[in-house]
Amino acid sequence: MTVDLMADLPVLLPKATQWAEEQSLVIAKGGLALDKTLLDVGRRVGVQRPELIRVSLVQSIPLPDDPALQAACAAAGFLSERFNGLTLGHGIYIREERATVRLLSHEFRHVFQYEQAGSIAGFLSEYLRQIFTIGYDQAPLEIDARAHEIDNL
Ligand SMILES: [Zn+2]
Repeated sequence: MTVDLMADLPVLLPKATQWAEEQSLVIAKGGLALDKTLLDVGRRVGVQRPELIRVSLVQSIPLPDDPALQAACAAAGFLSERFNGLTLGHGIYIREERATVRLLSHEFRHVFQYEQAGSIAGFLSEYLRQIFTIGYDQAPLEIDARAHEIDNL
C-alpha cells in the first residue's frame, strides 16, 4: 500500500464525518421507513431504535466528492463498484437491484454499531481506523456485521 492512511486519518476523519452527516440527513428526509417485518429484523440484529432507520434505494451508492477521501477509500478497498449498501447513522443507501433481507440485515447491524458508538463521528473514528489498518474484508466491525446477516425471515 503506497498511501499511509493512518497518517492521513486526522485530516480524512473530519471530511468523512461531514460527508456522512450530510448524507444521513438526505436519507432521513427522503428515505423509506421500515415495515413491521423489517422493524423486527432490525430488532433481531440489536438495533435499539429501528423506527429511526430510513432506507434510500439508489442506482449506485453515492461517493464523497473529496479526492483525498476517494483515494483513501480506494486504497482501503472500501466503496468500490461492488458495494451494494452503505450505512450512515440511521440512514442506509441500498442499491435497488441488490436489495435483499440479507443485505438489509447486514446494514442494520451497522446501525446497531453506530448506536453503540453514540454518534456518526464516534463510529467513523473506529471504523476508518479498522479499514485503514486491517482492510475492509477483515475489519472487526465488518466481520460482526457479516455474522449477524439474516437469510430467512
Ligand atoms: Zn458492512
